[in-house]
Amino acid sequence: MSRTRHTSDLKQQLLGEARGRRRTRPAAPPSRDEAPGAPPSTTGVPEHLTRFDQHPGYQQLSMMREGARRLGLTDPFFKRHDGNAGATTTIQGREYLNFASYNYLGFSGDPRVNRAAQDALERYGSSVSASRIVSGERPIHGELEAALAEAYGVDDAVAFVSGHATNVSTLGYLLGPRDLVLHDAYVHNSALVGAQLSGAQRMAFAHNDPAALEDLLSRHRHRFERVMIVIEGLYSMDGDLPDLPRFVEIKRRHQAWLMVDEAHSFGVLGERGLGLREHFDVPASDVDIWMGTLSKTLAGCGGFIAGCQALVDTLRYLAPGFLYSVGMPAQVAAPSLAALALMREEPERARRLREISRYFLDRARDRGLDTGESIGAAVVPVILGSSPLAASVSHALFERGINVQPILHPAVPEKSARLRFFLSCDHTEADIDCTLDELTAILAAHP
Ligand code: PMP
Repeated sequence: MSRTRHTSDLKQQLLGEARGRRRTRPAAPPSRDEAPGAPPSTTGVPEHLTRFDQHPGYQQLSMMREGARRLGLTDPFFKRHDGNAGATTTIQGREYLNFASYNYLGFSGDPRVNRAAQDALERYGSSVSASRIVSGERPIHGELEAALAEAYGVDDAVAFVSGHATNVSTLGYLLGPRDLVLHDAYVHNSALVGAQLSGAQRMAFAHNDPAALEDLLSRHRHRFERVMIVIEGLYSMDGDLPDLPRFVEIKRRHQAWLMVDEAHSFGVLGERGLGLREHFDVPASDVDIWMGTLSKTLAGCGGFIAGCQALVDTLRYLAPGFLYSVGMPAQVAAPSLAALALMREEPERARRLREISRYFLDRARDRGLDTGESIGAAVVPVILGSSPLAASVSHALFERGINVQPILHPAVPEKSARLRFFLSCDHTEADIDCTLDELTAILAAHP
C-alpha cells in the first residue's frame, strides 16, 4: 500500500468513527444515570451543550490524538525547549537542528539583547501593571516606538502587548458595519478575528491575486464607506510575497486603505531587512498601515502599528487592546529596541539569512521536493500532501535530531499538508545538506 493510501485510509476511518460518535450524542436531556450526581435538568438543555468534552473543538482534538497514537507518533506540539531556540535548540536534554522558530536574525539569545532586557528589568521592575494611558509609561516605550517609526520612515508607531491583539484591535476599532474588509485568502487568523469584531463585511480574494481583488472592488466598492485591504509582507505558510506596487495602484484607484502585516517580512526582506517596502523600494506612505510583530526578528513579544500621526494617535487613545490593556513590560520592550539597533549595525545578518534561505530552496528543488511558491526568504515549505504523512515525517526527522513542525489540516488544505522550515541567519550550508539528506532518505523509505 502506498504511504498516501495508508494514511488517507486511516483518516477516513477516524472521520467515520467521529461522525458515528456525533450521531450518538444525546438528543434529549440526560437521565441521572448518564450524569451521576448531577441535579436533574430543569431547562431541557441537552447535556452535550454543557460539557467541554463534548465541544466540537475537543472532539476534533481527540480525533487527531487518536490518529497520532495509532500511527505510533508522539504529539508534535508543545515541545519543551531547555533554553533559547535558534538555528539549534536543546529539547529535553538532546540537541537538535532547529527549523521551528522565528528567530530569523538570531537576536533572541544574543548576549547584548539579553543584557538590554536585564538592565530594563533592574531599572523599571517587572511590570508596568496597568494601561499606559492611565498608569503612565516608561521612557523605553517611547524609544521603541520612535525606533520603529524611524525604521519605517513614518510619523509614529504604537506598540501593543501582543501581535495577535494588534490586528484584532486595529481592525476591530477602525472599521464598522458600513465598511468592507478585503483580505488575501491566506491572511493570519488575527486579521480575520479583527475584521469579524469590527462588524464590517468581509470578503477574501484568491491568494496573491490582485486581479481578484480588483474584481471585488469593482463590484462592491460603491456599497461601502471605508474599505480596508489586508495583505501580508511574507506569507508564513508558503514563503511567498505580494506584488506590492500592484496592490498600491489598485487601492489608490478604489480609494481604499491598504494594511500590510509584516510579521514575517520585517527583518527578512530588503537589503537591510527593512521589509516589503525596502524589497520593492516604494515610499512608506504608499501603505496606510504597517503592522508587525516584536516576537520574531525583534526578539521580544508584542505587535506594532506604524503610520501617519492621526492613525497612531487614534489607536493610542482609542483602540481597546491598547487602551484597556496593560503596557508592555520594560524588559520586553528593551530586547526589541536593542534588536532594532543591531539590525542597523549588522546588516550582514539579513544578507546571510537571504543566502541560506535561497540555498535551502535551491537544494530542496534539486532533490525534487515540492516547495510550492516559496521565494526562498526565511520560510520554505516542503509539501507532502497528507496530514498523517507530514506528522510522521516530522516525527522521523525529530528522531534523527532535526526539529521541524508539520502543518496539518485544517491549518492548510489536506492535500497541501507540509513540513514548514523556518531559516535563521545562523544556519549553515552543512545544516541544510544534512537536513535535506535525512528528509529524502525518510521519504524514500516510507511505506
Ligand atoms: N500576524 C502574522 C502574519 C503572524 O504569523 C502572527 C503569529 N505568528 C501574528 C500576526 C500574531 O503575532 P504574535 O504571535 O506576535 O501575537
